[in-house]
Amino acid sequence: MNDLLENLAEVEARIQSACTLSGRNRDEVTLVAVSKKHPVERLREAYDAGLRLFGENRVQEAMAKMPELPSSIEWHLIGHLQTNKVKPVVFSEFTLIHSVDSEKLLMALENESAEQGRVQPILLQVNVSGEGSKFGLEPGILLPLLEKAMQCHHLDIQGLMTMPPLAEDPEKAAPHFAKLRDLRNEAARASGFPLPFLSMGMSHDLQVAIREGATHVRVGTDIFGARKG
Ligand SMILES: *Cc1c(COP(=O)(O)O)cnc(C)c1O
Repeated sequence: MNDLLENLAEVEARIQSACTLSGRNRDEVTLVAVSKKHPVERLREAYDAGLRLFGENRVQEAMAKMPELPSSIEWHLIGHLQTNKVKPVVFSEFTLIHSVDSEKLLMALENESAEQGRVQPILLQVNVSGEGSKFGLEPGILLPLLEKAMQCHHLDIQGLMTMPPLAEDPEKAAPHFAKLRDLRNEAARASGFPLPFLSMGMSHDLQVAIREGATHVRVGTDIFGARKG
């Protein structure tokens, strides 16, 4: 077995065990293989290992990789998106954008999707801790933003995403994941958007995230190995 197959088997076993421990079905959790900064050859290996969903954090890098790889791959954008990059994004093949973190970006995506005559699936990125990630909506503006989003007929808001502050102990992320879940429950009740997806958990804290309700875990290092640069 090559290292990628081994890594993937290990990650899969951790996902499975976390699902079992919390009484969830494996198919409730989607593994997004975070391929940023890895070359196309490495992604092809991952494809050969059976992976069909890749997450990239930069539009340009993702769009350079897409034509080199089979079209059966699904791509998610997980990184910060500048409003002036919206045009290529909506043109491209991202089936889910995890990182919508401002009203300005929300409106830019709505306008561009409307122009293209399509509906773009998105998640709203929330900064639940007030620290850690420099990106993300303040929890307090989520509800007013969802109210405005009622007018956005070319966006499909499927849920929330978060990046907790880095901590060595994965359990330290638990309260942040729980807060995102509670916020989702509250926002879904108040807004009428079902918001089924919770994108939370990365290589070192994916089990904690699954226990707290993650539907999407974004795993890079533990599948592909350390990133250069
Ligand atoms: C890089 C990245 C990940 C993956 O992190 P790993 O620790 O390598 O698993 C997940 N989410 C986002 C938003 C990222 O930028």
